[in-house]
Amino acid sequence: MREVVQSLRRQRQKHADDTAWARSLRAFTSRLYWHCHFIQKLESEPSIEHQTLHPALRGLRERDPEHPHLIAWKRGQTGVPLVDACMRSLTATGWINFRMRAMLLSHATFGLGLHWYEPALHLARLFTDFEPGIHYPQVQMQAGATGTNAMRVYNPIKQAEDNDPTGEFIARWVPELSPLPQEWRAKPWALPESLQKRFGFQPGVDYPIPNDFEAEARHWKKLLYELRRTPEARDASQAIVEKLASQRRPSARRGKKVEADNRQQLLLFGESGMGNG
Ligand SMILES: Cc1cc2nc3c(=O)[nH]c(=O)nc-3n(C[C@H](O)[C@H](O)[C@H](O)COP(=O)(O)OP(=O)(O)OC[C@H]3O[C@@H](n4cnc5c(N)ncnc54)[C@H](O)[C@@H]3O)c2cc1C
Repeated sequence: MREVVQSLRRQRQKHADDTAWARSLRAFTSRLYWHCHFIQKLESEPSIEHQTLHPALRGLRERDPEHPHLIAWKRGQTGVPLVDACMRSLTATGWINFRMRAMLLSHATFGLGLHWYEPALHLARLFTDFEPGIHYPQVQMQAGATGTNAMRVYNPIKQAEDNDPTGEFIARWVPELSPLPQEWRAKPWALPESLQKRFGFQPGVDYPIPNDFEAEARHWKKLLYELRRTPEARDASQAIVEKLASQRRPSARRGKKVEADNRQQLLLFGESGMGNG
């Protein structure tokens, strides 16, 4: 890490006048800060690895290593093409980008209603860059288990439209869907009967029909928000923020008026600027 940081500093000086490079190197630097920041979080709160961080959100789901939804998710057989493509690609290569890690976890916990623990273990075993200090806070955040962050539930159909508009990635990793034209690859269960014969594809036979993952996700999102609203839950959230939030001085350059009692910007689990693209 020291070598990387020192080299980065040299490069930042060298490319100070090149706006695009300077911006890229700044972004990379900030991720290295996140890396250490997250590792420190696990040092401060080692139970993050085993226990749902927010007390009001514990005990909602069983840890079940044999759950059929979990098995399907691990095999890339959920019936949701982008989820399955990402899982199969990750299994083959050991790496997937931030957004797709977040979507895989969000689908397991919100879309399939699984406890985060087993999915986290599975991803940890697959990642070549597995780092518990980064992994577990990210898992808890993406599963809505911190109780303090805005909940981000990634809709895999929208993600496919945004990130794989031609359906090329899906067709590569889920070849059962490659005979379909691109507009049906992200949601093959909806292929009209009239077209099934033409493309030689039958939903439920050639590829699984998914659960109603959108309704499942709505259910969990609503429940989690309700549980976070009680006075005890709010107190617990405050305690979590005080213990684990990163505290950054607001940037003077932004020129925003800052209240005296709000001098520090709280970035719990990288709440802002943590989207990573
Ligand atoms: C559910 C989930 C699990 C994750 N598990 C891991 C993990 O086990 N190990 C891991 O290194 N990253 C993990 N990440 C963070 C992130 O996805 C990877 O670090 C990133 O994909 C690495 O991409 P890159 O090599 O292009 O690095 P860049 O994006 O170029 O970043 C450079 C380095 O900064 C660090 N970094 C980047 N993004 C983050 C982040 N969001 N939080 C903290 N540090 C970051 C990493 O050390 C990375 O190698 C996880 C993210 C999610 C959503």
